[in-house]
Amino acid sequence: MHDFGLELWGDNNFLIKEGRLALNHANTPSLLEMTQRVRERGYKGPLLLRFPHLVQKQIATLFDAFHTAIETFDYQGRFRAVFPLKVNQYPNFIHALMRVASPYGYGLEAGSKAELIIAMSETPVGAPITVNGFKDREMIALCFIAAKMGHDITVTIEGLGELQTIIEVNTDFNKESRAPISPKIGVRIRLHSSGIGIWAKSGGYSSKFGLTSTELLEAFDLMQQSDILDQLSMVHFHIGSQMSEIAPLKKALREAGNIYADLKNRGATALTAINIGGGLAVEYGQHSHAQERNYSLKEFANDVVFLMQEIAKSKGVETPDIFTESGRFIAASHSVLIAPVLELFSQEYHHKGLRPKKSNPPLVDELYDLFETIHRGNAREYLHDALDHMESLLTLFDLGYIDLEDRSNTEILVNLIIKKAINLLKNEDTKELKRLQNRIQEKYLVNFSAFESLPDFWGLSQHFPVMPIDRLDTKPSRPASLWDITCDSDGEIGFDPDLPLYLHDIDTMQDEYFLAFFLTGAYQEVLGMKHNLFTHPTEVVVTFDEAGEMRLERLIEAQNLMDILDDLDYETNTIDKSLKHKIEHSPCIDEEEKQVLLGKLYLYLSENSYLKTIQASQKN
Ligand SMILES: *Cc1c(COP(=O)(O)O)cnc(C)c1O
Repeated sequence: MHDFGLELWGDNNFLIKEGRLALNHANTPSLLEMTQRVRERGYKGPLLLRFPHLVQKQIATLFDAFHTAIETFDYQGRFRAVFPLKVNQYPNFIHALMRVASPYGYGLEAGSKAELIIAMSETPVGAPITVNGFKDREMIALCFIAAKMGHDITVTIEGLGELQTIIEVNTDFNKESRAPISPKIGVRIRLHSSGIGIWAKSGGYSSKFGLTSTELLEAFDLMQQSDILDQLSMVHFHIGSQMSEIAPLKKALREAGNIYADLKNRGATALTAINIGGGLAVEYGQHSHAQERNYSLKEFANDVVFLMQEIAKSKGVETPDIFTESGRFIAASHSVLIAPVLELFSQEYHHKGLRPKKSNPPLVDELYDLFETIHRGNAREYLHDALDHMESLLTLFDLGYIDLEDRSNTEILVNLIIKKAINLLKNEDTKELKRLQNRIQEKYLVNFSAFESLPDFWGLSQHFPVMPIDRLDTKPSRPASLWDITCDSDGEIGFDPDLPLYLHDIDTMQDEYFLAFFLTGAYQEVLGMKHNLFTHPTEVVVTFDEAGEMRLERLIEAQNLMDILDDLDYETNTIDKSLKHKIEHSPCIDEEEKQVLLGKLYLYLSENSYLKTIQASQKN
């Protein structure tokens, strides 16, 4: 059984049952069953499945790890957490998150005005809200409104200008008030240490964000003079996302811990929290030699708690509450993208395509011979002969000595010989075999857009685990590269001999074959771009009732063609009129046909961009 590295990245969320990938939850339904149930309702194309129980699991795991560490070290501060909205703001996700979050007092983090409005409306009063990023006067005023609603809200200042604005807005809001209320203030510090990995830029000296130590002292003085030092409650840092190693975090913790203690000793008595931002990594690796995280959550939590305790003790200050803003860790696993395979592109190199002649060129006859008689003992030698013959035959074609049929036979036969040889020699791991696998790779055309659904693959070469959702009791044999349906050659996940993906040999005229992309729940959805006007796929929330029965809820279909154009600010009425006019005034069709065409046109306009069918017999 081939498990596509499930034990590395799967975190026990899935299991393989009777050859199918199933959810390791409730009565373990298969992903194929979910997919088919949605497709039977008429929704074709790619499908995003959301699993709220996996959000619940991540939140519980995070809180458990910190609660255990707090007990182990007899730590006096509390653990608190918020979800950073920029990681995923989609309502079906946020509503699921907030439903499972309430026992934990888990809140939201906002980095823009629109996110702040989500945080203000979705967070229950009592759970924390933190606000980061660059802010203008209006955004700060919104934070004051949130505070007056009763929210436990902390505004993290990224620069002295923001502090100045807070002071002014405070006067505005509280001058006349009998019970002045303002948000808490946090200070984001500019670390001298920085993270590592492709997302490390958010920490470190050259980072866009945070106060230098000089600015920090100025901010402190300013707060003291303006009499709002009693609002300063949090020291914040964020080291960058997908932190692959723990060492940079420890450095950052020491730096931030000492800043916290110093500010406290200077008189910031209301300072009670240290916010360690996000960065907790997710294991995306499908191959044991390419894992992306070198620490466990336990180690992470223990390090944070232990270091904070040590610094507080040595500086003689109270231990701070620990805040996290882990986003990727909470959201990544909750969604899975299921995408139908539409076509295999090298089907032309099939036995069926051979057109033997009565009299073939001698080298082609030899290729037939090699193909028929190749076996384990001679495989390497025959393979080399075949490759050599192919070179000669292609030269003969260029010189006009053989025809297109001979050339086609050559290509098919050599491909078949390479495949046979690779199969016979599969236990030998040589460079040559790797290179040849690359050459015979099968191109799977997949009904999805990498730009829309895996933008980090496109922009940062981030790997996402991928596997078929059935046939898992059959060994996949074809080295695979995946093509999306955009007209852009960047929409390809190429075959990588060092991180090989093998898929099954299927006949797309007869078989349904679905690939699943995992850990797409963090960042991918909102970063996804409508390149070629492929939009957010159809999504559905998978929940379970008390008896463990599966429910497919809150289905949202991918946007239809007119809505897509409307989003681009086209006047859809004008488009509608223009299309109708052209049909009605067309000189080449009669009245009856006009009605039929209009009917068809409106049907198509009500559908989404993804492909429904690609071949006559097919239903993708
Ligand atoms: C992006 C961001 C996070 C989330 O980081 P993850 O790596 O997704 O955990 C947390 N805090 C701040 C300030 C951020 O900008």
